Amino acid sequence: HRKRLTQLRDMPAESVDGIRVHLHANIELPEDAAVASANGAEGVGLYRTEFLFMNRKGQPSEDEQYDAYSRVVSAVKGPITIRTLDLGADKQVDSGRSHGPTPNNPALGLRAIRLCLKDQEMFRTQVRALLRAAHHGQMKIMLPMISNLAEFRQAAAIIESCREELRQQGLVIASPPIGAMIEVPAAAIAASMIARHARFFSIGTNDLIQYTLAIDRVDDEVNYLYDPLHPAVLQLVRLTIQAGAAAGIDVSMCGEMAGDPRYTRLLLGLGLTEFSMHPTSLLEVKRVVRESSIGDLRSKVSQLLDRMITQAEGADELEALLSAGS
Ligand code: PEP
Ligand code: MG
Repeated sequence: HRKRLTQLRDMPAESVDGIRVHLHANIELPEDAAVASANGAEGVGLYRTEFLFMNRKGQPSEDEQYDAYSRVVSAVKGPITIRTLDLGADKQVDSGRSHGPTPNNPALGLRAIRLCLKDQEMFRTQVRALLRAAHHGQMKIMLPMISNLAEFRQAAAIIESCREELRQQGLVIASPPIGAMIEVPAAAIAASMIARHARFFSIGTNDLIQYTLAIDRVDDEVNYLYDPLHPAVLQLVRLTIQAGAAAGIDVSMCGEMAGDPRYTRLLLGLGLTEFSMHPTSLLEVKRVVRESSIGDLRSKVSQLLDRMITQAEGADELEALLSAGS
């Protein structure tokens, strides 16, 4: 089985009816770039930069970050989407300074883009390092936990001001596209508004499911409620894909759901054509893409979801659709 999958490595992720799908890898450390290409990734859809900040004392300097980003951007053939710091909640660090008392609900607190907009020196250091490294490859910059348009615009303005600062120092600086993660239900519902300013979206289902269903993703007592197939979750995924398509921007998905081959046909049917996942899932998902007829799935899945929502039926058909892909 593994051998057959390996043969798929250099084949395109193209459906039976000729629609090209893009399969990218999620990575956490610069060294992971090699594993991604060994598994046939066309690029990196999510580089989680916070791992550079974890398990150490203090924060990495601008130069240290520049080295890491340059290394990873040069190592990746194809596009690389780098996510700005997603610290807080389940990813705490020794920041060297205090951000106040431990909150009762860290997942709803000062994390990710919120923390970066509050601690702007930390954010600007990272952004300068990213911008300096951008010319080594095809970098895109992605902002996590966006919940409203103002936050996106404020972060984009800071990035622009860092670019201007570097330009004045005589450095020629690339202008990487800036996109938003859609992982807060409010952002999915208001996706068309954010799409007017963002150059791309990436759906983070891990958090989107947590916030939509009001269940802590790291609390074992409620994980039986963690359901990627909840019609409300699927609605938000569909809304985001449609808003992106209407605005003419790319929409990817980088949560765990994107790397689970049981959900591939469902996601193709919802209109998704860009997936990013753990590198070891790439070949399985590619196999499903290559065996699917996306046109058929698109006409089936959207109607099925409407029926599930309005008539509370169709769950068995969804089940059949999912098992056909395994
Ligand atoms: C997500 O929320 O789906 C995601 C990809 O980000 P993380 O798992 O790092 O929160
Ligand atoms: Mg997330």
